[in-house]
Amino acid sequence: MPAMKKKLCLVTFGCQMNVHDSQRMEDLMRDAGYEVVPEVEGADVVILNTCSVREKGEQKLRSEAGKLKKADTVLVVAGCVAQQEGEALLKSMPFIDVVVGPDNLQELPALVREAELGGPSTVRTVFDVDAPHFLTNSVAPGAAGASAYVTVMKGCDERCSFCVVPYTRGPERYRPADDIVAEVRALVEGGTREVVLLGQTVNSFLDPTVALPADRDPDESQFPELLRRIAAEAPGLDRLRYTSPHPRHLTASLVRAHADLAVLSTHVHMPVQSGSDRVLKRMIRRYTRAEYVRRVTALRAARPELTLSTDIIVGFPGETRDDFDLTLSLVRELQFVSLYGFKYSVRPHTPALKLDDDVPEGEKQSRLLALFEVSEAQTRAHLATLVGARVELLIEGPSRPGAATWSGRTRANEIVHVAGGEGVGPGAVVVAEVARANKHSLEGRVESVRIPAATRVQPTFRRIALPVVTA
Ligand code: SF4
Repeated sequence: MPAMKKKLCLVTFGCQMNVHDSQRMEDLMRDAGYEVVPEVEGADVVILNTCSVREKGEQKLRSEAGKLKKADTVLVVAGCVAQQEGEALLKSMPFIDVVVGPDNLQELPALVREAELGGPSTVRTVFDVDAPHFLTNSVAPGAAGASAYVTVMKGCDERCSFCVVPYTRGPERYRPADDIVAEVRALVEGGTREVVLLGQTVNSFLDPTVALPADRDPDESQFPELLRRIAAEAPGLDRLRYTSPHPRHLTASLVRAHADLAVLSTHVHMPVQSGSDRVLKRMIRRYTRAEYVRRVTALRAARPELTLSTDIIVGFPGETRDDFDLTLSLVRELQFVSLYGFKYSVRPHTPALKLDDDVPEGEKQSRLLALFEVSEAQTRAHLATLVGARVELLIEGPSRPGAATWSGRTRANEIVHVAGGEGVGPGAVVVAEVARANKHSLEGRVESVRIPAATRVQPTFRRIALPVVTA
């Protein structure tokens, strides 16, 4: 009788980088002989892939880890809190078996084996600055997901004063363009329809194999060339997206790429953080409101059907009511179709620690509610314009676990729920008529199936949604 496989459960907090890291941890542990299960209960190994961008992520870690304190389980803490806290985590939670940072994930199977054999708790949080390693998708023929993340770069050289990412993810390191293109091609050959290029400041990409002119414009990067190469060398790809870009690198050449490349999604998430120059300066964002507006206006002119979303922080140290009103006016002026809004919270190891967190909690909350009121009205108005339209959807999965309807996305990133039917399932590309607008999504009727669904591997890790987008 074959030996029973040990069971592994991954719980993921935070951003797309963490989702990608979790998918790669799943691959590594499957290759090491583990069965990946969706529930913590009954798992032999639990990995909490953590986020430290907001305070809430750390609170979630403590509450999830606390529940596993007495369980006979190997407990691994990975991700940004692991990198940020290192040994300190073992002091506050000595029942943790392994603490592993984002650059040490390849060592995960060996670290877990040592813990299973009764070894002492281990901490591995060393940046791979000299020889960066990038985890890639493992693509079995016909088993690729409908949509896949492909890493372009990691780390961040910006120093936005509110952000802990440069501390937890280290300096910027880039992947050779040849490797990125080869991975995209392999995914497309395996059946992937959409690729999302990933990086903390994805559009700062510079090919490490290409020498750069000494006098180059620091805002320019080789990201536009990378997009053009992917479009040319992976012609079977249906959709190409990227996250998270920094407004500084939204240059004329990137705008031209959007004008020229039909494969690029017609939605861009471009974090702005504030509409006040005074606050942007204190945040060390390195652009002004006018520069941001000029850049996204050029992008819209290049691709008029493009929709925009953004991130906003309210209650940053020193933000006055007038500063906040400037943020509201920017949200209205640029007609973002959605946004992630956050109350500022003090993060360790960030430059903003030197500033007085002087906006009272009640005022932060009321600014956040005012922001949401404006953005939700804009979301509703935008979705209402789509009722009656014909849209092309990439079906991603069931609308929710066990649901009879499927959820897909348009090229402009709107979510549309449709009933099932022949050929409709994960990976299918269908044309649907939008019948109704909900608060944040649409409902539609499938009119035709352009590409039928294939059998695909669905992710089995649990995700705790903490909408976090950086850059
Ligand atoms: S907000 Fe983005 S660009 Fe700024 S430091 Fe954090 S990761 Fe880097």
